[in-house]
Amino acid sequence: MTLPRILLLSFIAVAITVFFAVGGLDYLTLDGLKAQQEQLFAWRDGHWAMTVLLYSLLYIIVTALSLPGATVMTLAGGLLFGLLWGTIIVSFASSIGATLAFWAARFLFREPIQRHFGDRLKTINEGMAQEGAFYLFTLRLVPLFPFFVINLVMGLTHISTRSFYTVSQLGMLAGTVVYVNAGTQLAGLDSLSGILSPGLIGSFVLLGLFPWLARTVLSALEARKAYGNWPKPQHFDNNLLVIGAGSGGLVSAYIAAAVRAKVTLVEQQHLGGDCLYTGCVPSKALIRSAKAVAQIRRSGELGIHAPVAEVDFAAVMARVHATIQAIAPHDSPERYQDLGVNVIHGKATLLSPWSVSVSTDSGSQVITSRAIIIATGAKPFVPPIPGLADIGYLTSDTLWDLQEQPKRLLILGGGPIGCEMAQAFARLGSSVTLVERLPRLLAGEDSEVSELIHARFWQEGITVLLEHEATAFVIENGEKILICDQQGQSRRLGFDQVLVALGRRATVTGFGGETLGLKLSETHTLATNGFQATNYPNIFACGDVAGPYQFTHAAAHQAWYATVNALFGQVKKFRTDYTALPHTTFIDPEVARVGLNEQEAQAQGIGYETSTYPLADLDRAITDEVAHGFVKVLTVPDTDKILGVTIVGEQAGELLAEYVLAMTHKLGLNKILGSVHSYPTLAEANKYAAGVWKRAHAPQTLLTLVAAYHRWRRH
Ligand SMILES: Cc1cc2nc3c(=O)[nH]c(=O)nc-3n(C[C@H](O)[C@H](O)[C@H](O)COP(=O)(O)OP(=O)(O)OC[C@H]3O[C@@H](n4cnc5c(N)ncnc54)[C@H](O)[C@@H]3O)c2cc1C
Repeated sequence: MTLPRILLLSFIAVAITVFFAVGGLDYLTLDGLKAQQEQLFAWRDGHWAMTVLLYSLLYIIVTALSLPGATVMTLAGGLLFGLLWGTIIVSFASSIGATLAFWAARFLFREPIQRHFGDRLKTINEGMAQEGAFYLFTLRLVPLFPFFVINLVMGLTHISTRSFYTVSQLGMLAGTVVYVNAGTQLAGLDSLSGILSPGLIGSFVLLGLFPWLARTVLSALEARKAYGNWPKPQHFDNNLLVIGAGSGGLVSAYIAAAVRAKVTLVEQQHLGGDCLYTGCVPSKALIRSAKAVAQIRRSGELGIHAPVAEVDFAAVMARVHATIQAIAPHDSPERYQDLGVNVIHGKATLLSPWSVSVSTDSGSQVITSRAIIIATGAKPFVPPIPGLADIGYLTSDTLWDLQEQPKRLLILGGGPIGCEMAQAFARLGSSVTLVERLPRLLAGEDSEVSELIHARFWQEGITVLLEHEATAFVIENGEKILICDQQGQSRRLGFDQVLVALGRRATVTGFGGETLGLKLSETHTLATNGFQATNYPNIFACGDVAGPYQFTHAAAHQAWYATVNALFGQVKKFRTDYTALPHTTFIDPEVARVGLNEQEAQAQGIGYETSTYPLADLDRAITDEVAHGFVKVLTVPDTDKILGVTIVGEQAGELLAEYVLAMTHKLGLNKILGSVHSYPTLAEANKYAAGVWKRAHAPQTLLTLVAAYHRWRRH
């Protein structure tokens, strides 16, 4: 605990002790108040302003220190100042006192509590950030919830002081009037419990329920307003209609068919979407060829003198397309039709919340459905950099049509796609320059990950230009040139082809969403609630169009929630759970992560400990000549509960699966340590990382005692 905290805590402890020592409690009772009535009146009549000041000060101190007696103080307010003035004075004094108590709790306990229990409090924090004022208002309206407990608990949350003060003052007003009024009738009052008759308590409870009732009515009205005057069909052709057959749409249709719902899937291009045709599959196929080249180049390290690897780029690209064709049957229309899905090849446009027009080669038709899932994916983001459009550029959509290998490839963007492609093309023989605006690659990962990858890229001959901002493209003497800004200095880079890998924008247009007024989020995705529903309760969204994660498995994960909520939401709704959502960047060494990394934990104020195991130490990594990288586990301080894991190394994506399982099923590091891992495998690294944690938490006292026991046994 820091010195200022110790000082404040000591001050509060002393003040409370003094209060009890001088018998403060005796004064702040109903009988005490009645006994001093005459004296108080005399004082008030002689010194009105001073009485108001002293009374307010005392009230503030009592509430700020959370001392018992606030109720009696409120009665005294009524007794001394009457209903109107009493209410005004008490209202301000109690709100100021409550805010001081709230500040004290925040200063003393919020940081340590958030540090220790931050992961568990995450949902509460998110709820408070959105609806904190609403909860507080409800609690304040019902004076049965202890006043001081609310002050202290609210101090631990992220609610702002301004909201706390305003909502407290407004919410407490009704209760204040009742107690101040009781104070004006003090003579007739026998006990504090007599103030709140059962009828009055009932009224307060109703008052407390009012905001909830109002909210339910409001959201029902909002839904009604969203549906407006759209004509609702008498009967529906489908239970579910899915727009887009990428990872999200396919899984939605699959689940709906599995639970015997009538489902139609509309796709304007090919079933399989981005992942199969322009994303995961072609990129991983290309990376495989590039890895083979890198392995041949490194074969000398294994004692093999292989001839120099010669890359036939057209053949590599042919294999990429053959791989797509090999996997395509998994997502074929025939397969889905056999599963019971009505697959239509066409473009879908929403006509109303329940009807969709589908235009196909043979004309268009209108299909109705009780629920709709939008899974229209995302497209590469191409910024309006002057000259870019004229020069011709590649994106992840067009890259796979290349037949000739670019000699000098410029890549804009040091995120996962930029990094994967930079290494793959460099290994295949292109001279690659990667331009990134930020000070490091893979900025979403911890800095040591970026450093390790940067060093590897440098080793492999990739030119990485950080803190470089692309400002214009020109052609000079037939050469394509990027002009970029490096901290105020202009730099010119010649190249043959440029790949724009600056992120991907959700496809929120082209399917009639604007006509319905589907709301968008700040990050330009379709706005969805925790149940994947849009602002129309029967229209859901999943995958890249809903965000925030742009992964195939995230799309599939959300698809389950969207489908189940769309089909069974009337009975039970499920909130999408992202606790253990992994991701892998398939560079060499791979970078894989689940849960929090250090920079995220710090940004969210969540306390953590790290246990890092270097792969340089692992037997199997040494035998395979891949002894680099690490397993880093973040745990809740003093427990084995896993907050997140980052693995950098050979097959990191595969190794991560054990931690994903552990986090999903709430298994701690002790359980990983207690599981037998085959020797020699890379997976042993997971166990050794758990071992690092265990050694740091060895029970020292117990070990000293055990050592003494062994000493005694040797005598
Ligand atoms: C180069 C690259 C590499 C990637 N690598 C990985 C990886 O290794 N691992 C990973 O998890 N993710 C990876 N991703 C991301 C992954 O591909 C996406 O997250 C995933 O495909 C999203 O699926 P989706 O269903 O949301 O959208 P999509 O797959 O884009 O599907 C949307 C579909 O909707 C259709 N559509 C749109 N509008 C309409 C309409 N009006 N009517 C009918 N149909 C319509 C489109 O034609 C499209 O087929 C990669 C992406 C790229 C670009």
